[in-house]
Amino acid sequence: MQSDTAQQVVALLQAAGALTPEVAERVLMQKQQTEGNLLQTLITSGVLSFAALQEVVLRYGRFIDSDVPALTSPRVAFEGTAEKVGQAVDEYSIDDAQLQTFLLQSGRLTQEQLDAALQARQHTGHPLWRTMLNLGLLTPQEMTEIIKTQGPPGQAQPTTTNGAMVESPEPGRALVLQAHHEVARRVIEVEETATAVQIVNTIFAEAIQARATDIHIEPQVPRMRVRYRIDGMLFDVLTVPQLLEPSIISRIKVLADMNITERRLPQDGRLSFHLREQEYNMRVATIPTAHGEKLVLRLLMKSNVLTGLKQLGLEPDDEQRLRSLIAKPQGMILVTGPIGSGKTTSLYAALNEVNILTNNIVTIEDPVEYQLTGINQVEVDTKIGLTFASGLRSILRQDADILMVGEIRDVETATVAVRAALTGQQLFSTLHTVDAPSAITTLGNFGIQPYLIASALSGVVAQRLVRRICPECRRWYTPSAGVLHHLGLKPDQQEWQFAYGVGCETCYYTGYLGRTGLFEIIRVSETLRHLITAQKSEQALKAVAIQEGMHTLQHSGIAKIIQGVTTPQEVMREVYL
Ligand SMILES: [Zn+2]
Repeated sequence: MQSDTAQQVVALLQAAGALTPEVAERVLMQKQQTEGNLLQTLITSGVLSFAALQEVVLRYGRFIDSDVPALTSPRVAFEGTAEKVGQAVDEYSIDDAQLQTFLLQSGRLTQEQLDAALQARQHTGHPLWRTMLNLGLLTPQEMTEIIKTQGPPGQAQPTTTNGAMVESPEPGRALVLQAHHEVARRVIEVEETATAVQIVNTIFAEAIQARATDIHIEPQVPRMRVRYRIDGMLFDVLTVPQLLEPSIISRIKVLADMNITERRLPQDGRLSFHLREQEYNMRVATIPTAHGEKLVLRLLMKSNVLTGLKQLGLEPDDEQRLRSLIAKPQGMILVTGPIGSGKTTSLYAALNEVNILTNNIVTIEDPVEYQLTGINQVEVDTKIGLTFASGLRSILRQDADILMVGEIRDVETATVAVRAALTGQQLFSTLHTVDAPSAITTLGNFGIQPYLIASALSGVVAQRLVRRICPECRRWYTPSAGVLHHLGLKPDQQEWQFAYGVGCETCYYTGYLGRTGLFEIIRVSETLRHLITAQKSEQALKAVAIQEGMHTLQHSGIAKIIQGVTTPQEVMREVYL
């Protein structure tokens, strides 16, 4: 591991609370003097527990995204390092044979479960321990224990076990097809003699085939990397020799009608291409990086955003709760969750629902993602002073019945939004909070008086997206007692069966097909209004909401695991259990 990576890893661990600043500093000092795997040193010296590390990876591992161009915001910088942690964990190798013997002898796994893990590993190319964590056959806690009892793990191995490596000694002659860390179980194949035009066509066609929503083309030394985002996760699909990099980038920039000589400033463009009689559109953005221009292409597919309430993945009684919220003639409904948790999709689904009942809906968005029929959509434009707050203020004067504000992220917008909800409008918006009760605290932090929050707010929907197990290749297995315990399920209560996807043609060998939502819905009742006005804690609000029938995100996740809709791994990544 290089030292800048070490620094990033330590920063991430520190930000996640797994290391104190003092320890972090000491570790980095030591790191300069010694060589070797930093994480391994941290774990074997007992400074960091494996469980803590695993948790950090589970929680932040999905922020591999670098769609956001500037690295100025600390959040973005923070997210960018997560992938490095993931890679570092992969390097932390544990002897498979030793592990197998241990697991069988200690009775933690049956031969059948072990066989299932070994079989799954063939598809993922992951180390055995990771496959087992992914399958939910072991918990991070159990892994920590195993590491302790097994003594220090073996030397860190480069990830040569991962997928096909067709390395060519001569760059430019052949394309190297690699499957990196995460689950790239399938790689694109390109002819050795392929031209830039052919490679770009293949990249596009395969992206459609793989149901990718984004394509990342990243200049890196020594090879350019191509990744697809499928169901929210990035997969490495191809690396290209540096020699071909300029022609591939130019080809895409030409298609997107961009200035090909400008390489230092970010540019935006659009392109369309045809595949099997169908036209596809993409939004293209270039971002200058240290190694050259990076391209991010977003496939604009209506089906990626537009859907009905029925398709969001709500449990029947949650759907009922949400419908009753939407049916209220006035008040504020907030959808909360991190970036990429499907908030916009849910808002659009809700708007589509009310669109049938009324015809005076106005939205203010940044940017307008999709044109909705019969709805007036305004786009934020800070250059001319059109912000969420100012836009909302002028919309209020136009007597709309229903308003949608893309996001409440400042005091001004919060104030206008609350006022709108109090003066008889129905207002939908999103907020960046972890769960439903914390939305109330966040509004308070924007300076809104508790009694105003209590009267303005009709409900909060917290949500997360998890990947759906592919129905074509779903396999059932009996989870270990440890996993059940971790999820709060009683092993002896019944014969539990969980599922995972082995990977097949249909799901592009990812084991997952599409995503579904986990929900936590608060309906603000009279009792809750009193508690909010009295400034009771989030815990108190949550307890009452649960009494009144709210399912938490955790419950929602566990329900989906039991139904075989998703895996424990997916739920653990999205929701802290
Ligand atoms: Zn499948």
